[in-house]
Amino acid sequence: MSIAENIAALRERMDAAARAAGRDPAEILLCAATKMNDAQRVKEAVAAGVDCCGENRVQELTQKQPLGAYEGKPVHFIGHLQTNKVNKVVGKVDLIQSVDRMELLEAVNRTALRLGLKQDILLEINIGAEPQKGGFSPEEALALAPRMGEFPGIRLRGLMAIPPISQKKGDNCKYFAKMRNLYIDIAGKKYDNVSMVCLSMGMSDDFEDAIAQGSTMVRVGTAIFGARPYQLTIDK
Ligand SMILES: *Cc1c(COP(=O)(O)O)cnc(C)c1O
Repeated sequence: MSIAENIAALRERMDAAARAAGRDPAEILLCAATKMNDAQRVKEAVAAGVDCCGENRVQELTQKQPLGAYEGKPVHFIGHLQTNKVNKVVGKVDLIQSVDRMELLEAVNRTALRLGLKQDILLEINIGAEPQKGGFSPEEALALAPRMGEFPGIRLRGLMAIPPISQKKGDNCKYFAKMRNLYIDIAGKKYDNVSMVCLSMGMSDDFEDAIAQGSTMVRVGTAIFGARPYQLTIDK
């Protein structure tokens, strides 16, 4: 199957999942997780109508962006971001989905201020409370959201999560439900620099469950591009 055929099939499954949950399919955006796919393949996905692209590694972003890989669609950063590479990402992407620690949030804010811009971000939540994984706890996120006014270089747009690796279908529903509740909690308040529009959760194996639980953006790699030669470690 071609990338375009994969995307068409994926859209049908996303739409069916939305309708089954009584949701409007138009509420749910498709972010192509483009890691390990070259600029040409990314262009194919863009042409086939994904809503945005998500890159994991700074090096891939800086290689593919000058080749026009994402042209016409927003590009997001979705991987672990080292503080010393923040200047290669801030202002270059429409959204940093993976702000997973205070040190990174502060570095993004500083860099954005220096560049005179506002960087849209999501807070990454360690929703399974996995010790080996980065991300804010739900409690930390609840405490941080009211303080976003202290970071004028940043605008908080929502939340992202990668739940624990699941053993069987349906396992992640409880984590997705927790994410939705946290998202609604924060969205219901009026905080400076906070405008919640994106709940990013769901990947190739579990996006239907994520949509059932309120996801507004699924990040899909394998179901679009096929299996990767090896599994990148996406935890950190
Ligand atoms: C690779 C990746 C995805 C997509 O994973 P698939 O299982 O291939 O759909 C989603 N989110 C992040 C952060 C990723 O790194």
